[in-house]
Amino acid sequence: MTGLPEPPPEGTAMLPAGCFAGRTVLVTGGGTGLGLAMGLEFARLGAAVAVASRGEAHRAKGVAAIEAAGGRAAGVALDVRDPAQATAAFDAAEAALGPVDVLVNNAAGNFPVPAERLSPNGWRAVTGIVLDGTFFCSREFHARARRRGAPGAILNILATYVDGGAPGHAHSAAAKSGVRSLTETLAVEWAPDGIRVNALAPGLFPHDDHSPDMRRNRPEGYEAERARIPAMRTGRLRELGWAATWLCSPFAAYVTGHVLVVDGGDRLNRSIRKPVFEPVRDLYPEAPR
Ligand code: NAP
Repeated sequence: MTGLPEPPPEGTAMLPAGCFAGRTVLVTGGGTGLGLAMGLEFARLGAAVAVASRGEAHRAKGVAAIEAAGGRAAGVALDVRDPAQATAAFDAAEAALGPVDVLVNNAAGNFPVPAERLSPNGWRAVTGIVLDGTFFCSREFHARARRRGAPGAILNILATYVDGGAPGHAHSAAAKSGVRSLTETLAVEWAPDGIRVNALAPGLFPHDDHSPDMRRNRPEGYEAERARIPAMRTGRLRELGWAATWLCSPFAAYVTGHVLVVDGGDRLNRSIRKPVFEPVRDLYPEAPR
């Protein structure tokens, strides 16, 4: 048994060359991990990419990676929890690269903790980034696109635990479920304005930028998880690049309000012989009190 095959190599084009030429894409959290991988694929297809996040070092890393791949990029400072910063970031992206045609709401915070040990500040930090941040950036994007009379696309990055919750991740699961709902509401409200709103729910995609908090979820390392996924492998970042660019491309012009799951069948992995139940307190004994 070898599981699902590997995808085509990094750099392989799925959409026609120049598919996003003349377009600007703003990716929140675009300097690391999944956000950077998606930004890179947009850039390969001709888009100019605004890498928007709080940390100067993250932004610089994202811009350098996109430029090294032959793309055009600019870093813009943004804490998505602050609507005034969203306005300033769109202004900066527009000044550097032109009006934003595609918004990828990718920024997130997360850390494993049993719910009774989750402080109000921890709750607010995660829901503020994921749920509030997605709304503030989407609202800013829509207002500008509408003023220009230009069509556009928004892509929200979820997680597969939008269905069924996630023990140890009450804050993130609640916020991501909220974003799924927002995806569906805004798809209907903004279709008349030519704006599509879709979501991508990734399974497990290892990368070098995982925070120490998230590494605590995988004490045996990320690759050990292969044995628990029906695909018998983890996801490759380029698989999200292809999915994201397709959903935001003219080839998906009639697709809106959709959640595309890219997880190698992981969310459906249920068996009559269930694994031994582990209470969340045993899973994360050292989580903050
Ligand atoms: P990551 O490397 O930790 O990236 C998170 C990014 O968000 C960072 O670039 C960070 O940049 C930015 N960010 C955090 N708080 C922010 C804020 N307040 N304002 C603006 N930017 C902020 O995580 P990742 O694994 O690539 O995850 C990316 C997305 O995929 C997230 O939505 C995550 O929930 C989702 N996801 C990932 C996986 C996976 O297997 N990796 C699975 C399912 C879902 P700064 O620190 O510079 O602000």
